[in-house]
Amino acid sequence: MLRSTLLYFSRQSWLRHWIETSSVSRRLTSRFIAGRTLEDGIRVAGQLAKDRIFATLDFLGENVTSLDEALRSRDSYLEALEAIEQHSLGATVSVKLTQLGLNLSEEACLNNVSALVERAVATDSRIEVDMESSAYTDRTLRLVTELHTRFGGHVRAVIQAYLRRSEEDIRRLSAAGIAVRLCKGAYREPSGVAFQIKADVDRNYLKLMKLLLEGGVYPAIASHDEVILRECARYVRASGIEPDSFEFQMLYGIRRDLQKELTSDGFRLRSYVPYGDAWYPYFMRRLAERPANLLFIAKNVLRG
Ligand SMILES: Cc1cc2nc3c(=O)[nH]c(=O)nc-3n(C[C@H](O)[C@H](O)[C@H](O)COP(=O)(O)OP(=O)(O)OC[C@H]3O[C@@H](n4cnc5c(N)ncnc54)[C@H](O)[C@@H]3O)c2cc1C
Repeated sequence: MLRSTLLYFSRQSWLRHWIETSSVSRRLTSRFIAGRTLEDGIRVAGQLAKDRIFATLDFLGENVTSLDEALRSRDSYLEALEAIEQHSLGATVSVKLTQLGLNLSEEACLNNVSALVERAVATDSRIEVDMESSAYTDRTLRLVTELHTRFGGHVRAVIQAYLRRSEEDIRRLSAAGIAVRLCKGAYREPSGVAFQIKADVDRNYLKLMKLLLEGGVYPAIASHDEVILRECARYVRASGIEPDSFEFQMLYGIRRDLQKELTSDGFRLRSYVPYGDAWYPYFMRRLAERPANLLFIAKNVLRG
């Protein structure tokens, strides 16, 4: 109930405008968001690198309403790739296709994201294409496949374990040699397309995770679920899978204890580091995942 309410509020533009411009917003968000600028993102990525954690930088934004706005997002990501190279961070960037114009023109979006992959090839980085709601799954996978064919890698797709179609998608992507990040899924989806019960999502996650570890291309296991992480560690050890043939991924600021544990155990870890002004929908999805975060945020604000 609280989760649905938070997801409902995540789509309300009046609340978004009020809260994004409010003076308390910095205190609200600092746990989960690096800051408002690319410099903030790079600073946090540098701090993480000292702890042997890689970063994937996310310039916050989704669903742009003009192609000019989509071009500005592309340019922000080009700057991010440049800064990553300058600072030798070994980081990637994570993009949302609706931020690069997918809703306005699939062709323009492909051109925008092609420019990014081209730069990623030149700087030995990677473009990780986040997955949005199921309305975008087909188009997103189509574009990622096209990019992979054009550039011979340097791109990663995201698959959501809550979607019933995901096993088929993973088999197809792996056969084509396309890298995959596996996550549970963060959007509200109807029961026809997505498992609704956590136990079913978790079961499917474990099944898909093993499929990727056995036959995928440098998969990313993206989760904070202790049961999943421990099963992954147990499985790779038991199967003799090399620890550098995959990576774990977690969101910046979440389960820092587990992040430390994984790197101490010799696993590769990448932290998803968001920065930028348009933080509201991202932030609200994190609250919806764990409404107990509301308490944590309230304490931060009261502390001043
Ligand atoms: C690197 C990365 C990239 C992602 N990319 C996408 C994407 O492209 N598309 C998409 O739909 N989703 C994406 N997600 C979000 C994902 O789908 C889940 O919504 C989110 O990760 C929560 O699922 P979980 O696996 O952590 O498990 P859950 O079962 O939700 O949580 C397990 C445990 O993790 C901790 N936890 C989880 N979330 C939080 C939180 N917000 N705050 C504090 N503790 C928390 C809690 O201890 C919780 O008990 C991504 C997640 C990660 C880590």
